[in-house]
Amino acid sequence: APQVIAMDGPAASGKSSVAREVAAKLGWIYVNTGNMYRAATWAVVESGTNPEDEAAVLAVVQGTDFQCTVEGGRSVIRVNGADVELQLNSESVNRGVSYVAKIPQVREILVAMQRDVGHTHPSVMEGRDIGTVVFPDALVKFYIDASEEVRAKRRGLQGHADSVGERDRIDSTRKVAPLTAAADAVVVDSSEMTLAQVVARIMELLHE
Ligand code: C5P
Repeated sequence: APQVIAMDGPAASGKSSVAREVAAKLGWIYVNTGNMYRAATWAVVESGTNPEDEAAVLAVVQGTDFQCTVEGGRSVIRVNGADVELQLNSESVNRGVSYVAKIPQVREILVAMQRDVGHTHPSVMEGRDIGTVVFPDALVKFYIDASEEVRAKRRGLQGHADSVGERDRIDSTRKVAPLTAAADAVVVDSSEMTLAQVVARIMELLHE
């Protein structure tokens, strides 16, 4: 099996922090696939394109150069050579990303990059479809969940205007790679747990 630990779940479930810490503990690469969909969305918004205009979005994405490198223990995504990391959590990206991410041809481009990283680096990869689509043969799969109330609060604490409920609705109902736990994923409900407790639980499960 590829040296990939899949970490899927809805928006603001805490999976990013968990994946980052688990990767650090293992000395593996932390891969944030949401940032790839956000980078594509950033390019779309930057070009003045409406994220809901599927044909126009696809044209922008196909005409943009996305590059994924591994630096300092994590994956970094570049758009036409530029590091756009600091712009990926803006309100306009939050609002548009689920529309961009439901276009099958956009997913194909980004999934190919994700498989590339996973095949060349032992990775803890977080997203929505890592265990179901990107690496169905991942070493171990986790699905990190939390109640909508807790998730809204966690995202609020990060200081971003973000309608996580709306994104989850679009992400769960799209035709390709909808958000869902893989049949063989270990589901962890983090609603009543601290970050440290979730990480400890996952490390325990990994050592079983
Ligand atoms: O993880 P994050 O909340 O930053 O992801 C932003 C959006 O990117 C999600 O709401 C979803 O639309 C899309 N996404 C996806 N598949 C992934 C990761 C993210 O469709 N593997």
